[in-house]
Amino acid sequence: MSTLDYRKGHHDLGQGCHAWLQPDGSWGWSNSGLITGSGTSLMVDTLFDLPLTREMLAGLSPVLDQHPLRTLVNTHSDPDHVNGNELVAAPDVEIVASAAAAELMTQEALDAVARVKHLDGTLGEFARHIFGPFELDGITATGPDRTFSGEESVDVGGREVRLIQVGPAHTPGDALVHVPDARLLYAGDVLFVGGTPIAWAGPIDRWIAALDLILDMDVETIVPGHGPVSGKSEVSTMREYLVSVEAQARKRFEDGLDVDQAIASIDLGRFADLPEHGRLAQNVLNVYQQLDPTIPRPDRLTVLTKIAALEGFSPAAFDDATTP
Ligand SMILES: [Zn+2]
Repeated sequence: MSTLDYRKGHHDLGQGCHAWLQPDGSWGWSNSGLITGSGTSLMVDTLFDLPLTREMLAGLSPVLDQHPLRTLVNTHSDPDHVNGNELVAAPDVEIVASAAAAELMTQEALDAVARVKHLDGTLGEFARHIFGPFELDGITATGPDRTFSGEESVDVGGREVRLIQVGPAHTPGDALVHVPDARLLYAGDVLFVGGTPIAWAGPIDRWIAALDLILDMDVETIVPGHGPVSGKSEVSTMREYLVSVEAQARKRFEDGLDVDQAIASIDLGRFADLPEHGRLAQNVLNVYQQLDPTIPRPDRLTVLTKIAALEGFSPAAFDDATTP
């Protein structure tokens, strides 16, 4: 399957593996996966809101009817991968996530993202711009029934599915979902294709190490958390972005530039026109925090204001929108 076939909905990847893709892969437009075994199936991630998740469950129903869902794995804790969990939760469905991801799958975290759409000022405007199509109110946080750390195997109707925690990278609890007999990997947000990765947790070195792990795996098909179904060349491309940003930010830190000066002076080269290029703000901040742990870690909303500014939104009114 090629990256050219990037249409919304169900993609049968063969060998009992499926993807539900959501172009254009920007903020909130995440992908899910489904792996079938004998008479059962495992889902990889739900979507950002209930209507989108309902649509996905309906679209996948021909497969789910034949292979009832027994396991849901959340690749990480971000709301665009877990907000639909309540629609999948059932006594006979086990929800699984890494322990580090589970800690962040709270009602409080979910409500904080929903609230930002209702803020006044530039942050609210930016949030309505990127989250406008999503119904984020009234969602009930639904965490895992079981957690894991490191690696483990899950039996899906007689076939092995491997869960491999590689976070902290994009977030504290990132995990890969590997289907060895199909040479296929669901990468969650460890892989962004066609958009800019954002290192909320990092350090970026660890994220690069996770990409190296993928490059060393015996896989051919990779479903990213955002973007079209891909392969290792897209992993290499994203690795190149992270290596470049990490090296340039480190150099500016050593030269005594502050974070904002570093962000303003970094040359993204061939990645300059990548969608969500403003995420550079968080990526540089992440490198600085690694080099100097005394640099404060602002919350995500504060970071969003910086991203908005880099992408051309006015920085006015940012201060009152910040949360402690
Ligand atoms: Zn995501």
